[in-house]
Amino acid sequence: MRIKPDIKLDFKDVLLEPKRSILSSRRSVNLERNFIFRHWDKTSISWSGIPIISSNMDGVGTFSMAMVLQEFGMLTAIKKHYTFDDWKFAVINKGLRLNNVIVCIGTNAMWEDNAEDYATAKSVLTEWPEINFICIDVANGYQQNFVDFVKRVRDDFPDKVLIAGNVITAEMTEQLIISGADIVKCGIGPGSVCTTREQTGVGVPQLSGVMECADAAHGLSGHVIADGGCTVPGDVTKAFGAGADFVMLGGMLASHDESETESVNGKYEFYGMSSDRAKEVHGARKDGYTSTEGKRVIIEAKGSVRVTIKNILGGLRSACTMIGARRIKDIPKCTTFVMVNNQQNQIYEKI
Ligand code: 5GP
Repeated sequence: MRIKPDIKLDFKDVLLEPKRSILSSRRSVNLERNFIFRHWDKTSISWSGIPIISSNMDGVGTFSMAMVLQEFGMLTAIKKHYTFDDWKFAVINKGLRLNNVIVCIGTNAMWEDNAEDYATAKSVLTEWPEINFICIDVANGYQQNFVDFVKRVRDDFPDKVLIAGNVITAEMTEQLIISGADIVKCGIGPGSVCTTREQTGVGVPQLSGVMECADAAHGLSGHVIADGGCTVPGDVTKAFGAGADFVMLGGMLASHDESETESVNGKYEFYGMSSDRAKEVHGARKDGYTSTEGKRVIIEAKGSVRVTIKNILGGLRSACTMIGARRIKDIPKCTTFVMVNNQQNQIYEKI
């Protein structure tokens, strides 16, 4: 048994120190970033856009969400439950932009031959080779069979950008990159509808965890996604400040018109993908794993996600001018975090 004595930090434990800046307006900030993904020189794929991703969750990783996010040059991790025909409809009839979507592969293929979700993903990627990104994720990316699966997917798709997760420590970030991932998805337990920390006691505070994973990934020419725990636009900036190349959002994008679910009395349900509700909707996992590590919440409908996105991007732009970052890529080098024990004046919240 061992204790690491230095305290790990979450978004709520820090603020960004303002810095002298020559940026005269928010308009002079460039939120787009150009990436080149190289996996051991086998793949060399470039992508440009705003590196914010809608999570592959029900109510968030929908085609309707993708249709709006693509207007902003952002990415959507499309939930794995759509059929090939759903994809066809979205691409042909709705104008889904293939450069802005991530195909999510379920891990059922880890336990069964001919897993349906893997087969659908393969058909989608064969039909539309313009799609660059594949994502495979499990609640716990530390299992050896997941690492083996990453290797298998890398072999099956040598010319795609492969995202794998979730982990939240440096050595496992390195392991996934060595096993074939270009981008590692980082976050164990920070999510808005996640109960992993209550249920298992396992996790690492997101800000410090992302910092360590980013450092490890960048040393191997890999990238990281900070996945989970952002509750306000400022958290998105903090995640980039911690070294995240991409930030993935679930709860902040939930409960909008684009959720593709019915609202009841002006409210939407939102649930974790390991919650009982998700099992009710999609069926239990194939490996017989029964731990419930997510919850269901009911949230006020927030209208069009366009408004929320504009607010997030406005916050990000404003933060960049306040710390002197001309481009999103410059945020980490312009970041000095100050540790705090209070973030906001809450006087009017008590009334
Ligand atoms: P949020 O942005 O809502 O804070 O976090 C979104 C992330 O939470 C997702 O991208 C995913 O990684 C994670 N997540 C989604 N559903 C569950 C769940 O049921 N349990 C856990 N532990 N994490 C979840």
